[in-house]
This record gives sequence, C-alpha cells and structure tokens, in this order.
Amino acid sequence: MPLIVQKYGGTSVGSVERIQAVAQRVCKTVKAGNSVVVVVSAMGKTTDGLVKLAYEISTNPNSREMDMLLSTGEQVTIALVSMALQELGQPAISLTGAQVGIVTEAAHTRARILHIETERVKRHLNQNKVIVVAGFQGITRTEELEITTLGRGGSDTSAVALAAALRADFCEIYTDVPGILTTDPRLVPEAQLIDEITSDEMLELASLGAKVLHPRAVEIARNYGVPLVVRSSWTDDPGTWVISPTPRPRSLVNLEIARPVDDVEFDTDQAKVSMLRVPDKPGVAARLFGEIATQDVDVDLIIQSIHEGNTNDIAFTVRAPILKRAEAVAAAIAPVLRSHKAAETEEAEVMIQQNVAKVSIAGAGMIGRPGVAAKMFATLAEAGVNIKMISTSEVKVSCVIDNADCDRAVAALHTAFEVGEVGADKSPPSSPSSPSSASSPSSPVRGVALDMNQARLAIRQVPDRPGTAAKLFGLLAEHNISVDMIIQSQRCHVINGVPRRDIAFTVARMDAQAAQQMLQQAAAEYGWGEVVLNSAIAKVSVVGAGMVGQPGIAATMFEALAHHQINIQMIATSEIKISCVVAQEEGVKALQAIHTAFGLAGSHSIQVPA
Ligand code: ASP
Ligand code: MG
Repeated sequence: MPLIVQKYGGTSVGSVERIQAVAQRVCKTVKAGNSVVVVVSAMGKTTDGLVKLAYEISTNPNSREMDMLLSTGEQVTIALVSMALQELGQPAISLTGAQVGIVTEAAHTRARILHIETERVKRHLNQNKVIVVAGFQGITRTEELEITTLGRGGSDTSAVALAAALRADFCEIYTDVPGILTTDPRLVPEAQLIDEITSDEMLELASLGAKVLHPRAVEIARNYGVPLVVRSSWTDDPGTWVISPTPRPRSLVNLEIARPVDDVEFDTDQAKVSMLRVPDKPGVAARLFGEIATQDVDVDLIIQSIHEGNTNDIAFTVRAPILKRAEAVAAAIAPVLRSHKAAETEEAEVMIQQNVAKVSIAGAGMIGRPGVAAKMFATLAEAGVNIKMISTSEVKVSCVIDNADCDRAVAALHTAFEVGEVGADKSPPSSPSSPSSASSPSSPVRGVALDMNQARLAIRQVPDRPGTAAKLFGLLAEHNISVDMIIQSQRCHVINGVPRRDIAFTVARMDAQAAQQMLQQAAAEYGWGEVVLNSAIAKVSVVGAGMVGQPGIAATMFEALAHHQINIQMIATSEIKISCVVAQEEGVKALQAIHTAFGLAGSHSIQVPA
C-alpha cells in the first residue's frame, strides 16, 4: 500500500474547524488506498505566543526550558487531530517526537536529526491506524531523554525526515498558499505559482528568504530523493512539486549531519577578467554585461566588490576559449564607462588572468554550517593554494585558483571532505540538473527572492596570501556565524611589501554586531585594516537552473536595476543564482523590477493570509 506523509502547518490546524477539515482530508487519502503518517505544527501562532511568554519571564531564557515550552504547542495539535480522526471513525494515534524515536543531537533549540526509529510507527501502520506525529521536536538518546526542538519552522524537516526514514512514496506539505510562488506575493502581487522546481533551485530560494519551506527539509528531500509537493490545505489544486535527482545511496544514520559535502568539482579551463575602478553608480554593471550578452559571451562567476572611493571592481570568469571575445568587450567598454565620470582621475583598467581554475565543494548539508566553507579555505591554505576569487551560494562554495594548483587543491579537498574517488572535470554547462521541461520554459529564472535581514561586513586590507580566508571564516565559524556572499576585492594594495585586498561578505543582521566586534579584535591582532559594517542593505536574488550556459541573464537583472536608478553595491553569483546587494530602502522596488523584467508576472493575483 502506498505510504504518504502529510504535513499540516500552523494555519492549516489553526482552529477546531480547520482541524476537522484536516481530518477529512486525511480520511479521504486513507479511503483512496494509502497509509498515512500526519505531521503537524502548533496551532496558528501558538509558538510565537510561547516565545513571547518566555521573554516576559526572562531576557535570556534557558534553552533547555525553551524546548520544554515550545514542544508543548505541537503536542496539543496531535491530540486534537487524532481525536478528530477518531470522530470520523478513522483509527488514529498521536505520538510525540520522543514516542516515535526522532533522535537528535543535544543542541537545544536548533537540533539536527540523527536518526528516526521506525518500528513503532510501522507497527501502528500495520494496525491500519493513522499516526499523528508532533513536528519540530525530538529527543536526545542519552539516559536523560531530553526534549529538543529543530529550530523555528522545523516541522517541515520532521515530515521530510520521516518520509525518508519510512521510505514513503512521497511527502505532502500543506500550507496556506497554493504552492511555491515566483516571489513573495505580499510584496509583488503578480507573483505566480510554479508547477515544478528542482531541489537545488528550491534550496537556494528557501535559504534566500522564500519562507514556504524550511531549507533543511529541502536538503533531506534532495539527499534521500524524497518526492515533495507543496499544496494548499484549502483546495485540491496540485501545488508545486520539488524534484530531486536520483540520490547516491546514503545511510539513514546521522541523517542530518553526515557528509555536508557531496561533491568536489573543478574546471581547469577558466579565465578571469577584472575591471578595476569602474564608476560606482547605477547602470554600470548593466552596460558591461549588456554588451557582453550582445556578444554572446557566457560568463560564469561574477563578483563586484564593495567600492573604494568612487569606484568599484567587477570581475567575472569565462571559459578559456571565449576569453578573447570577453576581453575585447571589456577593453572596448572601459573608456566608455570612464567618460561617465570625467572628473575621475584614475582610469578604469582591464586585467586578464589566464590559466586559472575553479574548484567547488557542493552539498546541501552546508546550509547553516559556517564551518564547512571555513574548512575548505583551511584545506586550501594547508595545501599552499592562494585563493583569487571566492563565490558562494547556499549549496556551493567556489574558489578561483591558479591552474597549476588545481590537482593539489582537488586532492586535498577530496581527503578533507571524505568525498569518494576523484571525479571528472566538470564543466559548468553539463553538471547542474537540467531545468524541468514541464514548467515555464519561457524563463530561465524560476524565482526571485528578497532578503531584508542581512548586513554587510567588510574588512579592509587583509593580506593576500594562503590562509587568510581560512583564518577569517574559521573565526566566524567558531562563533557559529553563517556567512553568505563572500567577495574578495580585485584591487590590490601593497603595504610594507605585503599585497593586501579587501574582503566583504554578508551575515544575518542579528549576528552582525557580534561579528564586527569579534573581527575588530582579530584585525588588531593580525594587523588587518578597518572593519566596516553596513546594516541598511537588502539582497535580491534570481534563481534558476535554466540560466546555466545562457548569456544575458545577469545583464537583464542589472538592466532592470539600472532602469530604476538602483545602485548595485555588491554582486555574487553561482551557477544557478545571481545576488545583488542594494540599499535597504530600495529592496522592494528592486524585487518588483526584477520580477517583471524576467516576465514572471501573471495576471491573476494569489491570495495569501497576512
Ligand atoms: N511550531 C514551530 C514554529 O512555529 C514549528 C513549525 O511550525 O514548523 O516554528
Ligand atoms: Mg511552518
């Protein structure tokens, strides 16, 4: 008999009537010939209410007691849903995370799942019962049996992990929106439903601020190949399928903590083009990449570092065979850009680096684990490899290095991350999962996200030598601060014989102050320059597997921003994502402009509860 895991979020179980409607739907699924495991959240805004209570008692509540408190919300729902099923004549039993045996690490309020015991669930399924499981919670397997929670929004993760452990046919996430949308409909009323999205795209979007799915849930779905669908609990509409490639066989032990890195990829056929000292004003990136797209040059990574004086540096990589064309475009456009700023004394300059390689680590498990990128940098440092350019996404960290260092770098990374045999030279156009044929073939961009909860940190003048990034991001990792969009400036200042560059990156705004303080101390100790914090930023990103090997996507995005006179402060890309940092007050406008520019807007508006 097919086994389905259904997860119902807070709004879907927000009242007695809604719980009864959920019970109806579960019954219907059973009558259609399926076994059903139901995972539920706390009713409505219960968890928020509990958090608020805790903070009325303590400004810094004990995390163990916090878990004790927050886990009660889901316990209310499981009992009521089970009763509602029994009222309909459907045998059902509610189980807490502990009763199921959802075993987690002992990290209160943010525990990761280690494994799930399936015996009891299977026994009840064999008795033809529906099992109603409390999401968001687990238990440590010590004698003490401590209650843990997985972090806010974690019941999606409980559901997908259960589906993986039970080898369910699929997992349905029921929510208050019709599925995954092209962007946040509260900010862009023309947002449209997506029929199908790859788990890689979804991971990027979920981590970039699209709130429908907990990123860790997507990570598990991808790692274990769990078919996942996000649907509305008010209708019978099909919703959005999240498609995963066939995964490599993977143990169910250490479910959420094993192997953060799946793959080490490299491409030795790259070249890097840098443009130094281009004016810092709206429209510059648009001109440059517009021209590049016109010449049909496909760029891979793009970065724009924070500005120095009135100018920026922009760098991008291309595959070596098209370097000549890229270089010609850059050289032709440099004087044009300069003439915009007649008063500028410094000249824009084009710098070419041939014989560079890109090495990347890839894996869904690096989300929220700052130690992974730090370990990559440390590994490269130990191998004596200098990093020329860093580009990050949620599921990948790429470093541009010297071609001559590539074999050594790849071997060291394989060992460090215990990733199988040395893989093939993966060139960008062939590696990522192909865009789905079923949905929106017209746009290579699947969705657009806005993150208003980031801050930007920059450290001036850090030495350009192996080990610097390792030290810097190692420190942040030690303090459990996750970093996004790491950018190393292209411009180099030689001070006392040591070449130095600026490094900029974004962090969650709530971590920014602590990060700045910590880095100021480190800067004093290691002789780095000033640590600059800017909290008034917004990050807009476009995501889509279809942008691989297709020139012009970046240009379209930058042009949309230029058209609205929005200045780009920082650019970072990965194969399936382009992110720009803009001023915070321009974030929403930027999101709307970009959503429209990619033709994602639809004509009927999607209703979402506030
Ligand atoms: N009730 C928990 C929360 O609000 C877990 C969840 O709803 O997914 O964060
Ligand atoms: Mg939720």
